[in-house]
Amino acid sequence: MKNKYQEQIDAFMEYAKTRNPNEPEFLQAVKEVAQAVIPFIAENPKYQGKKLLERMIEPERTISFRVPWVDDKGEIQVNRGYRIQFNSAIGPYKGGLRFHPTVNQSILKFLGFEQIFKNALTTLPMGGGKGGSDFNPKGKSDAEVMRFAQAFMNELFRHIGPNTDVPAGDIGVGGREIGYLFGQYKKLKNEFSGVLTGKGLAFGGSLIRPEATGFGVVYFAQEMLHTIDEKIKDKKIAVSGFGNVAWGVITKATQLGAKVVTISGPDGYIYDPEGISGRKIDYLLRLRATNNDVVAPYADQFPEATFYPGKKPWEQKVDIAMPCATQNELNDADAAQLIKNGVLAVVEGANMPSTPEAIKIFKSAKILYSPGKASNAGGVAVSGLEMSQNSMRFNWTAEEVDQKLHHIMKEIHNNTVKYGKQPDGWVDYEVGANIAGFVKVADAMLAQGIV
Ligand code: GLU
Repeated sequence: MKNKYQEQIDAFMEYAKTRNPNEPEFLQAVKEVAQAVIPFIAENPKYQGKKLLERMIEPERTISFRVPWVDDKGEIQVNRGYRIQFNSAIGPYKGGLRFHPTVNQSILKFLGFEQIFKNALTTLPMGGGKGGSDFNPKGKSDAEVMRFAQAFMNELFRHIGPNTDVPAGDIGVGGREIGYLFGQYKKLKNEFSGVLTGKGLAFGGSLIRPEATGFGVVYFAQEMLHTIDEKIKDKKIAVSGFGNVAWGVITKATQLGAKVVTISGPDGYIYDPEGISGRKIDYLLRLRATNNDVVAPYADQFPEATFYPGKKPWEQKVDIAMPCATQNELNDADAAQLIKNGVLAVVEGANMPSTPEAIKIFKSAKILYSPGKASNAGGVAVSGLEMSQNSMRFNWTAEEVDQKLHHIMKEIHNNTVKYGKQPDGWVDYEVGANIAGFVKVADAMLAQGIV
């Protein structure tokens, strides 16, 4: 199937490159979708001749703005803020805000583009968007984070709203930042609404939202394992990152009887042969709250663990790998090592953590491999449930939200298998997720005309 449509895919990518020069991450995300969807369009006349992919890769609106603020020394700082409002065919723009020094237009366009398909997969009515800033939270005081968040919202507020665009967190944006952003929005608009998700429980947040991305990854992994008659219990898992997603994954995987043996940061990775559980999971939260972005102190705290400076956890022999840090963190050499060590499944918790070369290796080895847009959709799914609760002015219990999340992850899995199952029975989750997301958005776009 691939070869037959390669020329069409190459021509489309040439078009995308010409229109988006110097945006490698965005083009990488587009290529992944194009490779899955172009053969599907060619076999489904309903989607032909409508320039659907050309329309989808063009954001409906791109906003870029100045964010000036004053640091604790009284010095003026200037950052750049963005919001990419990518696609609103199936609902208000929805997606997180990332505060990280690597943020630029290419990164946010890749994230916003992925979000369109991810949100479509959740079964909830949410369009795709993403935003953020090149602000570096590392080492910043609480007062600096607040002043920056307020300055950021001083411009963003005019572009968002509970029925227009609903931002949330991503790397560098957690409960504290959402609180400051929400406070400033409310002050500027004189309006209490569900304009952001990931809010504190006291002002409209949803139970289970902090855990949701990680829990969802593990629920999805369970479904994947069922297809090969395997269980998560007693499996050894390598996780990368040590933020919100890693924390949720470790909590749920441990509850289900698996053993998570690694976490990582920009400084290297930790191997804990006893598994990260109990008070070690609480310690992760404290480590994150230091704002230093390092994992090395874990090994001082728990001497049975080893710190490997400058290395990645993929060199360890494990049953399951769950990359939960950031884009392109797992390359072809890492993939080859994992396969050599007999990995059963690679389940992405981050957005686009595996390079295209790594994905190729997973797919040719026919292991279970799931792209983040399917397996990490639990976070935005519970954001969707937070929006529902805000609209109802009513809260569900933790059990109710968790049960809905579990159900949604099963639905995503079913829908992905529907489009991804190959003639030999192996499931191509990458192809399945992209086609399933595409179909929902494309059907809505076709029905709404050329807008
Ligand atoms: N940033 C998360 C993601 O990548 C969550 C987005 C949201 O909750 O809107 O899906």
